[in-house]
Amino acid sequence: MKSLYSYFILFLVCFIGLGAHTVSGQQGANISSWPRTISYEIYVQSFADSDGDGKGDIKGMMSKLDYLKDLGVGSLWLMPMSPSPSYHKYDVMDYYGIDSTYGTVADFKKFVEEAHKRNIKVVIDMVLNHSSSRNPWFVDARKGVNSPYRDYYVWTEKSDPQTRSRGNVTAGENRERNHWVRLPGADSNYYYYAQFGGNMPDLNYDNPKLREEIFKVGRFWASEVKVDGFRLDAARHIFPDERAQDNHRWWEYFLQEMRKVNKDFYLVGEVWAPAEVVGPYLKGIPALFDFDMGVAIIKALNTERADSLAIMHKKIRDFYRTVNPDYVDATFLTNHDQVRIMSSLNGNTDKAKVAASILLTLPGSPYLYYGEEIGMLGKKPDQGIREPFLWDTKEKDKSRTTWEKPFNSNDSTMVPLSQQMRDQNSVYNHYKKLIQIRNSNKALTYGELEPVNFNNSALSAFIRTGDDPVLVIHNVSGAEVTATLSNDLAQYSKILYKDKNANLKSRVVSIPAYSSVLLQK
Ligand code: CA
Repeated sequence: MKSLYSYFILFLVCFIGLGAHTVSGQQGANISSWPRTISYEIYVQSFADSDGDGKGDIKGMMSKLDYLKDLGVGSLWLMPMSPSPSYHKYDVMDYYGIDSTYGTVADFKKFVEEAHKRNIKVVIDMVLNHSSSRNPWFVDARKGVNSPYRDYYVWTEKSDPQTRSRGNVTAGENRERNHWVRLPGADSNYYYYAQFGGNMPDLNYDNPKLREEIFKVGRFWASEVKVDGFRLDAARHIFPDERAQDNHRWWEYFLQEMRKVNKDFYLVGEVWAPAEVVGPYLKGIPALFDFDMGVAIIKALNTERADSLAIMHKKIRDFYRTVNPDYVDATFLTNHDQVRIMSSLNGNTDKAKVAASILLTLPGSPYLYYGEEIGMLGKKPDQGIREPFLWDTKEKDKSRTTWEKPFNSNDSTMVPLSQQMRDQNSVYNHYKKLIQIRNSNKALTYGELEPVNFNNSALSAFIRTGDDPVLVIHNVSGAEVTATLSNDLAQYSKILYKDKNANLKSRVVSIPAYSSVLLQK
């Protein structure tokens, strides 16, 4: 009997221990499920170093999984890791490899396992529009018309009508007008198509052999490495602009193939264009980045006018739904190609917090760009927006990666994560709090959007619908704003969240400068 009793106590202790772990530091249970969760984009080289060479790597990233879990992140988007001659790695030399400074395929398999243990999904960047000019396929293809890889790329030569119709074909011409690049040397009559410049020759998707090769690449990462999805780079350029429908169809075909391997396989696409161009891609790519909303949020904060934000978002959502009712709106403030949000808002911390609040209360599946949650600065050129994550003060920071100067987010202007964690008013704690509220609230995660008009241009107000709806009000101006809840909003009498001293009394809500309030019934 005694031993049974001990087992019972042991069981009880384990049970309580587990329970406490699951809810520790959280508002409530995390009800968000992928892909409708918080995603986090990482430039691997600048994230976390494990071996002291100053370059971020897979093991370094693995050591930060608990940090990401604690922040409330449910999925990762990792920028390209395959061997490449460029620092950003958006031109792939080996589609089956991992850059040796980052680690090995075995390291990465382990990373995916560890992420999955924490219920974090892993999405990797797939750069399929073009390869590197140093990819063995291209190295062989350029040898001559008899190369077995010749048709993996798109060729033309001087007498070809296609060339003539494209006008004067010369290397180095403005790429907006001319994407044909002349092959140097003996074969100088030949030109290859390269949307993004000579180092990145476009792959030829009219060739069934190439398409099969690409499926093979996709299957490898999906079935052997067990990643959960791909983020598709340059998804609208697979075929030229005038063949948009071929682009749409290709991605439907590709998704089908990937779902044969994993029925839940996920694609999120970069179609950097206005919503009407983005929409038709949703049939093949269930999630697309909402570039328009990011730009609109920044504009709202810089002009301190936000009353059209929710109306605009609803319009985009209603349009996307007509194409694919199950689409996922991948919202974000800025990504690795854009000036960082803190710099877009001229270093104004108050505004950066409101921008985060707007992102994290709108519908969609929000993407954060690494470092955004500690308010990292970053301006163009691109290296300036891909700087080392500041884990700790320089002397203590063992994970810190190194980067060329000038450094936008150096110690004199930035407070590193370790210090922000201790400061309840930091950008980091603002993000963390809002993420927790979103992750534990059904309406904020899954609800639809109904714009609310208070006739005040400083306010962005909307209801996130559901059984327990939330009325969200953001004040993007530098002055306190008072608004009166109309009869149909009178039931929203409980404050779910406020980040300053917002006040609600007899249906009059006052919202301090640059702050937000969330109301419930
Ligand atoms: Ca390293």
